[in-house]
Amino acid sequence: MLAEEPEAVPLAGGTDLLVHWPAHHETRESTYLDLGQIEELRSHRWTEDALILGGTTTYWDLIRDPRTTRDLPLLVDAARQVGAVQIQARGTWAGNIANGSPAADGVPVLMAYDAVVVAQSERDSCEIPLSEFYLGYKEMRLADDQLITRIRVPLAPRANQRFDKVGARRAQAIAKIGLATVEAEDGWRVVAASLAPTVRRCPAVEALLDSGEAEYSLDGFETALATDVSPIDDIRSTAEYRRRVAARLLFFGPGSREA
Ligand SMILES: Cc1cc2nc3c(=O)[nH]c(=O)nc-3n(C[C@H](O)[C@H](O)[C@H](O)COP(=O)(O)OP(=O)(O)OC[C@H]3O[C@@H](n4cnc5c(N)ncnc54)[C@H](O)[C@@H]3O)c2cc1C
Repeated sequence: MLAEEPEAVPLAGGTDLLVHWPAHHETRESTYLDLGQIEELRSHRWTEDALILGGTTTYWDLIRDPRTTRDLPLLVDAARQVGAVQIQARGTWAGNIANGSPAADGVPVLMAYDAVVVAQSERDSCEIPLSEFYLGYKEMRLADDQLITRIRVPLAPRANQRFDKVGARRAQAIAKIGLATVEAEDGWRVVAASLAPTVRRCPAVEALLDSGEAEYSLDGFETALATDVSPIDDIRSTAEYRRRVAARLLFFGPGSREA
């Protein structure tokens, strides 16, 4: 259907799309492609070296699978902080990625785990590392006729895994700051949300953490963050608050690991 009508809008849980209906009447005129009936997209599975999420796997699907808590705990940490239970039951990981919000909670943890997006159309299928998926605010490497059919999350030895979300309250809050940090065998992954036009990795902070504890200081984290991100003032917070709190989360979180 997308090949014939690429302007049709894929609809998974609808928890991002339907929010626009009351204020943006024109969105009601769109053609929607309901992914909910496509059984092949629904379930997730484990292989020897990866967790494979389907295009409509929900947060709740992973919260309910005890293996996720054991092997990829940040996915459950983040899932439990998305909206509240109703949103967790309907909202999907692929929808979180394709919505492209810089404040997303699912994207940072997937990116910190080196997830790969499988984008498929009738033409072909391609794999895009999530860390290379976003081109700018709400711009991404996903053509109109492509669906996210899978998200592959590699299994690997990892230590010091954290997901910090700073919001106005514990549920139904969009992040003022999101930070996912993971120590992989080949170095740290640090992924920031709500600090730039897209969720993104922070190479300067990663290099600082890789350099070892002797180099860690609050000033050092503030300087590295200034290289990686560009927070703004908006309805949820100020640039100054975001800068100060993010640096402290790093210094007292992964930065204090060996202190
Ligand atoms: C009350 C409320 C609270 C919320 N709280 C949070 C929160 O705390 N944290 C957070 O990150 N988000 C939050 N959200 C946003 C939303 O729930 C998530 O982003 C969710 O993951 C979106 O998934 P969905 O399946 O509902 O997407 P949909 O609304 O169905 O789709 C979102 C976008 O993705 C596209 N899309 C969906 N699936 C695919 C696919 N397989 N391939 C290609 N394109 C696709 C759609 O066309 C659309 O552009 C909240 C929303 C609400 C209404």
